[in-house]
Amino acid sequence: MTDFAMMIGGERVAAGETDMVINPATGRGFATAPKGGPEHVDAAVKAARAAFPAWSTTPIAKRREKLRELAAMLEANFSELMALCTKETGKPVKGYGGVGSAMEIGGSIAWMQATAATELPVEIVQDDAEARVEVRRLPIGVVGSITPWNWPLMIGVWHYAPALLAGNTVVAKPSEFTPATTLRFIELANEILPAGVLNAVSGGGDVGAAIARHADIDKLVFTGSSPTGRAVMAAASGNLKRLTLELGGNDAGIVLPDVDVKETAPKLFGACFHNNGQTCQALKRLYVHEDIYEALGAELAAIAKSVKVGDGLDEATDLGPLQNQKQLDIVKRLADEARQAGGRFLCGGEAPEEGGGFFYPPTIVADISDGARLVDEEQFGPILPIVKYTDINDAMARANASSQGLGGSIWSADLDRASALVGRLEAGSVWVNAHAAIQPDAPMAGMKQSGLGCEFGHWGLAENTNMQTVKIVKA
Ligand code: NDP
Repeated sequence: MTDFAMMIGGERVAAGETDMVINPATGRGFATAPKGGPEHVDAAVKAARAAFPAWSTTPIAKRREKLRELAAMLEANFSELMALCTKETGKPVKGYGGVGSAMEIGGSIAWMQATAATELPVEIVQDDAEARVEVRRLPIGVVGSITPWNWPLMIGVWHYAPALLAGNTVVAKPSEFTPATTLRFIELANEILPAGVLNAVSGGGDVGAAIARHADIDKLVFTGSSPTGRAVMAAASGNLKRLTLELGGNDAGIVLPDVDVKETAPKLFGACFHNNGQTCQALKRLYVHEDIYEALGAELAAIAKSVKVGDGLDEATDLGPLQNQKQLDIVKRLADEARQAGGRFLCGGEAPEEGGGFFYPPTIVADISDGARLVDEEQFGPILPIVKYTDINDAMARANASSQGLGGSIWSADLDRASALVGRLEAGSVWVNAHAAIQPDAPMAGMKQSGLGCEFGHWGLAENTNMQTVKIVKA
């Protein structure tokens, strides 16, 4: 059994107690991580604060170089990190549509490299005989990062890479459900970065809360649920931390009657069920026109019945287990309620009786509508409601009738019509004939209660800086 360690000021640090890291495919522990506490957060913040003056004045070209070295380190340790990621998240190595832990490590490398190449130039507002006015970007200070269990390393890289490039130092807290890949990555990163620049404190929600309220953390970036996001925002108000929040979503997809059902179904299936639906921007509610409702439902169910659900370490596995028991219980409860509400199960709907692990088959529920919790709430699991619609304006209104606004999509053979409709969705990212198709040079932001601020590209990098306006009077 591997014992992972926190990293504080360049040193491996243990705590008095440890948490077991569970493999969700077996339900058994395979590693331990320190159960850190607020005292470890204090120590990590001190280390990050001490490292800040030198790191923030290191030329940006050198910081870019360090990010590229981190990308090369990820490449060199690909197999170890990939296996670790599958063991703690349950996600398959390959996965349906190529979405699995290989993609998570590959994505981490891609985002690290793309961030390293991102520019944030000084903007010139005025430059004439009277004055020169510039807008400069300065590092903020110590950045706290709190990450969830669904894409632990990749979301971590989304937090750390722009923070570090901008000249900040970081205190990172991975989810207690999935600390291993992150702790290992940060341990390896400390062979490349100066001591104290990137610190890790593992533990539960109390560690996250200590970061959120810490008076010497200047900015907080948080990815997780909307309720925890609200708590974090309140705690961060003590010293008016800068905030980036990437929260939950209940993304709707609207399928127009002109799609080729056979061609579209596998794309929709991947958009809904990749990582077992445990992705903030997974497609979580499908509105399907009545003309193709039965045909598309049958096609999706046929795919669901054909995919291989199992241990993610088996390369043939399409979908692994849920990441944790709590999430499995949420899915079971939503299925029970959908059944009671008269939902028609096209496939799945029953967890396996035995075998260990947090498994649940891909499940599709028809004849269900708004008002059912399965439609109204983020399920974050492999159970998809498909809702029949007749009038597109009604479907648009129902898609927008949510307190969340992370992503949304329109599926159609008519790209002009679809691109006009997609702009009416109240969501920070929208797609035509795709979903969750993110990229490192385009911003990802949530509308409504799905978030605050954004990540990726120069927009996300700017969030890791303080803006400074400089006026040099010449005459
Ligand atoms: P949380 O929002 O509770 O957890 C996210 C992170 O916040 C974890 O590191 C967690 O630590 C930490 N945390 C917990 N409590 C606090 C606190 N009071 N202050 C600061 N940090 C805290 O999400 P869950 O993991 O419990 O998932 C619950 C739901 O959230 C899911 O069902 C899903 O709907 C949604 N979710 C959305 C994600 C997204 O990407 N948008 C990602 C994950 C979940 P720890 O895990 O150690 O408790």
